[in-house]
Amino acid sequence: MKKWRCTVCGYFYDQAKETVPFEELPEDWTCPQCGAPKSAFKLIEGEGIPVKRKVTVADKIIEQLVAYGVKRIYGIPGDSNLPLTEAIRKNPNIDLVLTRHEEAAAFMASAHAKLSGEIGVCMSIAGPGSTNLITGIVDAATDRAPVIALLGQVPEVFLGSESLQEIAEVDIFKTFCVYAEQVGAAG
Ligand code: FE
Repeated sequence: MKKWRCTVCGYFYDQAKETVPFEELPEDWTCPQCGAPKSAFKLIEGEGIPVKRKVTVADKIIEQLVAYGVKRIYGIPGDSNLPLTEAIRKNPNIDLVLTRHEEAAAFMASAHAKLSGEIGVCMSIAGPGSTNLITGIVDAATDRAPVIALLGQVPEVFLGSESLQEIAEVDIFKTFCVYAEQVGAAG
C-alpha cells in the first residue's frame, strides 16, 4: 500500500486508511493539517518511490568549500539548512562551529578571513536567521574580507507565497555582496 507524506508538516496520507487514491485527489486538494498544496506531498512507501539521491546539492556545496580549503563553518543549524548541516556532519574534512547568534557567526567568519587570508564561511536558517548575519557580512564587505554566507530558504514549493520565514534573501544580500544567488535542488 502506498503512503505519502506532507513535506511541510509531516502529515501522512495512508492509502490503506483512505477511500480516494492519492493520485485521484483533485489538483486543488490541500493538506488537511497545514494547507500545503498536493505538490508538497512525497511518496514515501509503496511502488514508484523515487530512488533516494546518494549525493545531495548540499553535499556538493560542502565538498566544493573543502576543495577551497575551508575547514570550519560558523553558524546555527535549523529546519531550512538541515541538508547543509547533514553534509557538514558527513564530511570528515570540515566542522560546524556552533554560535549562540547568527551575528556572531558572521563576525567570526569575517575575523577568520581577515586574520588568516582564508575564506570565512557562516551559515544561517532562512528569514530572521539570515537577516541576523547582515551586520557581520557588511563588516566583511567593507574590509574586503572574503566571506561566504550560506542561508537556508523555505521549501521550493512555497517560494513566492510569503511562507513562514520567507524573505527575498537574494535581493537583500546582493546590495552588499559581490554575488548572491539561490540554489535549487538538482533537476
Ligand atoms: Fe501538511
